[in-house]
Amino acid sequence: MPEPVAEDEVAQLKAFLAGAGQLLDGYFAVEDPQRLEPAERESLISTLINNDLLIRGYIDRLDVSPAGDLRVVDYKTGGAPREAFEGRALFQLKFYALVLWRTRGVVPRVLRLLYLKDAEVLDFSPDPEELERFERTLVALSQAIERAKQDKDFRPKPSRLCGWCNHKAHCPEFGGTLLPYPTLTPIPTQPTPADDITAAHNEP
Ligand code: SF4
Repeated sequence: MPEPVAEDEVAQLKAFLAGAGQLLDGYFAVEDPQRLEPAERESLISTLINNDLLIRGYIDRLDVSPAGDLRVVDYKTGGAPREAFEGRALFQLKFYALVLWRTRGVVPRVLRLLYLKDAEVLDFSPDPEELERFERTLVALSQAIERAKQDKDFRPKPSRLCGWCNHKAHCPEFGGTLLPYPTLTPIPTQPTPADDITAAHNEP
């Protein structure tokens, strides 16, 4: 005999399925999957930039047209962002575009954010100059992280997310006590990157 399922578990499952149904409605409102044949899904891509910085990420979906044009599609389960947060989402897509350009020699024609909750599509077309600037930004970011590691200087960045943070007891912003800085023993890998930046995957 199967174990009886607790009432709260049933309620949770119903809420989950209802939420998933709404997201699917959002998807079908903006795309007809019968008219699409994705070339790749959940594809891991990576490359080395500046000879020593490994960048990598998972692309939700890659469409390739008969002419060889690439369209990178990233599904977002959260609502469409306000302008201030749009940059963060595009940062992730430029990251993918840079890796594809460096590994396949083609700048993606379209970077598409698909917001399932709001049934909204945000398209962006990068150009090589912009991706070159973005590459320099990543290298500068990596160098800044290296300096911060050497100086053991990681400052708190308060925001409204602090309301959900469980680490206030160790956060100087809230008068907390810092934990001892961890000592890392590097593990050699092939190739040996100075650092490794991975694009955030499936941020809401
Ligand atoms: S409480 Fe401190 S560690 Fe947590 S999010 Fe805010 S600034 Fe960051």
